[in-house]
Amino acid sequence: MKVAQQRLPTNTLRKVFLTRLFLLLFSFSIVTSLAIGMIYRQRLELQNRADISGILNHMIPRLKNQDRLWRDDADHVLSIIEWSGLLARDDNLRTNKLDAFFTAQSESIGFEGIVITEAANKNIIYAYWEAIQKPNLKSIKVQDQSLWLDEEHKILYSRISRTLHHSGGKIEVVFFKAWESDVLKHLSFSDTESFIALGSYPLMSSAGRLALEAAQPKAGGYARYKINGVAFHEDSKELEKLTLADGNKVALRLVVRAPIRNSFPMSALLISTLGITLLFGVLMYWVFGRWLGQLGSRLDTATKAALQFQNRKVNSSIQEQLSLLAVADAQEHDQISVIAQELSALMTTSDKRDEEQRAYLQTLDMLQDAVIEFSPDGRLLRATDAWKVLSGKDNFSECGIANCVHPEDSANVLEQISALVHRQKELVTIRFRLRKPNDLTSHFWVEARFAPVINDASVVGIRGVVRDITNTYLHERQISHMALHDSLTDLPNRVLMEDRLAMAITRAQRSEQHVALGFIDLDHFKQVNDTFGHKMGDRLLIEVTQRFQAVLRSSDTLSRWGGDEFVVLCPDLVSLADAREITNKLAALSLQSIRIDDTEFPFAFSAGFAVYPDDAENSETLQSQADRAMFYAKAQGRNNIQFFNSIALKDSGKQSFYIQSKLAAAINKNEIQAWLQPLVSAHTGKVIGAEVLARWHDTEQGWIPPTVFIPMAESMGLIDKLGQSVWLQALNSFSVLPKGHRLSINLSKRQLFSSTLVHQFCDDIARFNIKPEQIMLEITEGIAFSDVDYAQERIAELDAKGFGIAVDDFGVGYSSLSQLHEIPVDELKLDISFVRRIHESKGLSMATAIVSIAKSLDLECVAEGVEDEQTATLLANMGVEILQGYHFAKPMPIQKYIEWVNQRHST
Ligand code: C2E
Ligand code: CA
Ligand code: CA
Repeated sequence: MKVAQQRLPTNTLRKVFLTRLFLLLFSFSIVTSLAIGMIYRQRLELQNRADISGILNHMIPRLKNQDRLWRDDADHVLSIIEWSGLLARDDNLRTNKLDAFFTAQSESIGFEGIVITEAANKNIIYAYWEAIQKPNLKSIKVQDQSLWLDEEHKILYSRISRTLHHSGGKIEVVFFKAWESDVLKHLSFSDTESFIALGSYPLMSSAGRLALEAAQPKAGGYARYKINGVAFHEDSKELEKLTLADGNKVALRLVVRAPIRNSFPMSALLISTLGITLLFGVLMYWVFGRWLGQLGSRLDTATKAALQFQNRKVNSSIQEQLSLLAVADAQEHDQISVIAQELSALMTTSDKRDEEQRAYLQTLDMLQDAVIEFSPDGRLLRATDAWKVLSGKDNFSECGIANCVHPEDSANVLEQISALVHRQKELVTIRFRLRKPNDLTSHFWVEARFAPVINDASVVGIRGVVRDITNTYLHERQISHMALHDSLTDLPNRVLMEDRLAMAITRAQRSEQHVALGFIDLDHFKQVNDTFGHKMGDRLLIEVTQRFQAVLRSSDTLSRWGGDEFVVLCPDLVSLADAREITNKLAALSLQSIRIDDTEFPFAFSAGFAVYPDDAENSETLQSQADRAMFYAKAQGRNNIQFFNSIALKDSGKQSFYIQSKLAAAINKNEIQAWLQPLVSAHTGKVIGAEVLARWHDTEQGWIPPTVFIPMAESMGLIDKLGQSVWLQALNSFSVLPKGHRLSINLSKRQLFSSTLVHQFCDDIARFNIKPEQIMLEITEGIAFSDVDYAQERIAELDAKGFGIAVDDFGVGYSSLSQLHEIPVDELKLDISFVRRIHESKGLSMATAIVSIAKSLDLECVAEGVEDEQTATLLANMGVEILQGYHFAKPMPIQKYIEWVNQRHST
């Protein structure tokens, strides 16, 4: 199982969660430690400050206390002085006595100086000074101040003044006690340094005089700084305002300085940070971890389901889990339960869709046509069962589409597919051969319609339907063969012959060779038909054909142009002698008669040959020269072969010249008559109309057939006039024809040249008050489907005006079925040659094929040349709607026709 091996994405989620949690805790711990550090520092600072101001506060009373002690001492000394009575008498001896006294007492006195003044005038009576740095006593302003500064020696003294009363008046005794460093040291706390400073000037220090130079206390308040890299802080308090000798008052301050106790307790910080972080982590895990864990395992289930679904291997347990997931949190309906719901819904619908698709495919499999899909490079991707039948392959992984196609067709198939792939075409219909299953050598025909499968504007595959058309194909081949061959002898017909002639001429132009063309007409063949019947005539024609072919080269083409007319084409001739050789062989044929069923027929024919480029420069002229030569041969008393170049000088077609000279006159004198031949409904037997046929009776030649004078009129440029004459006679007859009758009128190629034709036709019918639907214009197939644009253009115009259009002689000049779509046709007229052969199996199948083509194109079908009841019934059963032929009536003059119709309708 692929799913199990695949790492589930939720594992990744877990990893991401843990990484993020770790990152969060890490940054949290940093922030916490910073915060703790700051708080700690602030605390420390406050404590330091409190500590130092505590020391200060503590020291001041001590100082005061010291001062008080000294005052007590002063009182004690004073009492001794008083008791000694040294001051009582005011004489010269007093000073000496006092000197002696203080000298004797100097050890116990404990004061640096004692000054005795008269209280009234402050005159110094006596001054005792023990210290070395004895101030200028005169400078002592014995003022009422408890402190006095010896400004000269910068020594501060406590000044204790006492007044004594005796007989001589009031005496003031002032004691001076120096504030020495030792005193301060004694009063200070260990670790700290104390100063007494005047302003910022240190008078003394607990560290001794030396330390005074070390540092200047700050001017006041709290401060911190470093001395020799050691951090200190200090605080000060004003003790008193001291009046100096000059009368200025200066603050006397006590300064306490101590080293800062701010050793940072790293371990405490670390432990507290760690503790808090751990706590936070546990909290986080407790709050989110479990929840995310559940979320993760639910996501696992959903993901597994999605993966299995994607791999189309959903097992039932995962489906159960999924549905649990979908309902478990039904109250909350979080995203996962929604996903689970949607996924299981999707699985269900997709199952259903798969089921439907299977059903569709099963249905498709029932079709005989194969539905296939293949990749742009031709690999087969999908196919219905019918494909296996067609290609004989079960396993299409091995089957590139090109492998199944006949090698001769594969280039075309690949080209068409490439056109689809490159979006040059949106749909192609191709015919090609597929290999027969189990037989690599034989093939069968299929027709395929392919279209590109487009995804996001690019072609991702080709899809299409493939159908076995072998039967249709063979059928079509047969029809197209029929189209190019005479049905009786299977010789090429006029169309094929003219094609080969054109090719032979082109080739001869390049190789500078000769092409001989011969027109052959059997002599007295009409008599054979009339005497022995058509069947015998046909057998004779087949025998004749075989004899002709026996003497011709394989490169020669023998063709039959209807009736007893043959045309032979001999291409690639090096010289005229080659042509002579062929005609000699042909001439030799007439020496032997033909025997059919105990009847002996002479093999007699007249032939005329013309040679390219000697007698003509193009195919049309070559044909007419050969035709002329043939006419000449007939005129010579038949059964001979003439070359055009040898008759050209003698007699250029006497008979045709005669007819030609008379034709113009006949047309001008309106001697060409319009006759009518009835058209009968195959279902009801009723006469629905008639075909108009031209007739010419010459006083000397008798009846001249339209097959002779119509082409002549065309080549002489008289056909317009002839056609006009017949057309007007036909229109005129409408006045006497039964109501609703229609007339079919033959149009020749030349008539279609005229640009005024349509205009004139419309004018004429309007004049005669005839509707265009009553007229069906018959155009022979060769003309209708020729490449001549104006012919098709004219036909389209006539159709647009409302005239019916019939394709005459259909099946003879056939070129391509598909062209039937290109012109607006209403009716197909089956050629007479098919009707003649309808009682043979081959002839029947051809006629059936043509009628089915007409039906499939929704065209009315007319059969001409119906000569008996049996044929009429057969054609009616085949689905031919309209019948025409001698069985009903031969063509007749208009007046006679009216009588005939009336008589027929009355019975
Ligand atoms: P088409 O248009 O195929 O005319 C049918 C021909 O078959 C007519 O020959 C008609 O007489 C003949 N036919 C009809 N029923 C039978 C039958 O049962 N048995 C036999 N053996 N033949 C039958 P027709 O009148 O000799 O005309 C020959 C061709 O001359 C016509 O062939 C048509 O192409 C052309 N044609 C005739 N009249 C005119 C016309 O007024 N104008 C033009 N342009 N061509 C015409
Ligand atoms: Ca016709
Ligand atoms: Ca015809």
